[in-house]
Amino acid sequence: MSVSAETISAFCADIGDIAIQDQDRVLDLKSKDYYWYSPILKEQLDGKIGQVVVIPTSEEEVITIAAAAAKHRIPVTVRGGGTGNYGQCVPMEGGIILDMTKLNRVLEISDGRVVCEAGARIERVETAVSETGQMLTMFPSTKRLATIGGFMSGGSGGIGSLRNGMLRDGGNVNYVRVVTLEETPQVIELHGADILKVQHAYGTNGIITAMDYALMPTVDWQHTIVLFDGYDAALACAKEAQEDGIDAFLMTVVERRFARFYKRLAAHFPSDRDAIFAMIAPEDVDAFAAKVAAHGGSVTVSRSLHDLEAAKLPATWECGWNHTTLQALKHERDTWTYLQIAYPRPFDPALALRQQERYGEELYFHHEMARMDGDIQIFALPILRWTSRARTYEIIDEMERLDGCTVFDPHVITIEDGGMKEIDTTQIEFKKLADPHGLMNPGKTRGWTAEMAKS
Ligand SMILES: Cc1cc2nc3c(=O)[nH]c(=O)nc-3n(C[C@H](O)[C@H](O)[C@H](O)COP(=O)(O)OP(=O)(O)OC[C@H]3O[C@@H](n4cnc5c(N)ncnc54)[C@H](O)[C@@H]3O)c2cc1C
Repeated sequence: MSVSAETISAFCADIGDIAIQDQDRVLDLKSKDYYWYSPILKEQLDGKIGQVVVIPTSEEEVITIAAAAAKHRIPVTVRGGGTGNYGQCVPMEGGIILDMTKLNRVLEISDGRVVCEAGARIERVETAVSETGQMLTMFPSTKRLATIGGFMSGGSGGIGSLRNGMLRDGGNVNYVRVVTLEETPQVIELHGADILKVQHAYGTNGIITAMDYALMPTVDWQHTIVLFDGYDAALACAKEAQEDGIDAFLMTVVERRFARFYKRLAAHFPSDRDAIFAMIAPEDVDAFAAKVAAHGGSVTVSRSLHDLEAAKLPATWECGWNHTTLQALKHERDTWTYLQIAYPRPFDPALALRQQERYGEELYFHHEMARMDGDIQIFALPILRWTSRARTYEIIDEMERLDGCTVFDPHVITIEDGGMKEIDTTQIEFKKLADPHGLMNPGKTRGWTAEMAKS
């Protein structure tokens, strides 16, 4: 489904001199994200394409675009850096791709908070706040390309979540400014817990134009790689380091079968050892090294980011979370896809080891330590040797039924079938306000039905 060329022309006339692009190459590029990690999504989404890319540079321009899109009833897919994994910014019904990356100013930096426009790349925000001796409390490993608004709307957590929780956890985001998609758009400001009305809503219920984000004093985290002769020892060490309160921003346990994908680290992560990749506070480096030694491991890298880059080594955040999948796919693209698993709390390493044994060469594991609602939460994003849809769902079923894990299915496009598991009625109520005609990112939420749309 798409709208007629005449409707698109009428829309373009209404928005005056706001920048647009409609070359085939651009439309193709801006209609994709990283859904190709999933062969199931590739089959479903390849060929879905928007009809015009619109590039606002201010909130006023967003309002003009929203009004014209509503008037002509054109679907709108908001796009940040396009690094989402589930076809989050693939236009299912053609229409407008709203490219937010030129709405990118950092507006205000204070003690503990930054306010910026939603299209600002996260790394750019990070550079700006670093001049005040502060850093973001948490960021996705895609921070170079990803925008702050895209992270808010499509992400969940990442580097720093071990220390400062997930995006949903109170305090990381306290303020969001949203433009509604209606003939006379409104600007709605959400504060505190109300920001959950739009968090992880995939751009289905309003256009975020600005938001704030929590900062903490800069720490010169020591990027650390440690090796163990056994995944059990690596898991036990990481778990104990958490229980003992070692101050870490990142802690990822990666099994030895990933070593062949980490070419730049050949000298530090050999294929006969399992590894922990961590960012450790300088004052806890010795305590962590002692813990590693107690578990029979050894530290092969412990450097500041500056020294690491000078040595042409990757940051440890490019060795964990979904960057592991990217490393594998770079080398063996058609072989692998992946899963996202949350373990029951408290984490039992024996369960992870049983899964490793059960799936043999089918799954390669790495485990991510995070904090959710204040408690330690362990995730895994194992890569899965692709065979078929049926086998993928058999494994998901086993992990949920036999192991008590929750699998956030990365092979589906709706919010509910993926991470959230159920319809968030608060977000749907907000959609009735912010997108009364049901034009935003159609097909991405099961909670919205055609009869809810205002004519
Ligand atoms: C290698 C790799 C590693 C990753 N690591 C992480 C990680 O550590 N943690 C994590 O949470 N995710 C991770 N992701 C997923 C993704 O990178 C993040 O969620 C990222 O922050 C998305 O930002 P983006 O600007 O690229 O958003 P996009 O992909 O452009 O958009 C994501 C969603 O948000 C909507 N959206 C974008 N901007 C707005 C706006 N201004 N208003 C309303 N809706 C909007 C879009 O419509 C879309 O539905 C990873 C992905 C890859 C490929």
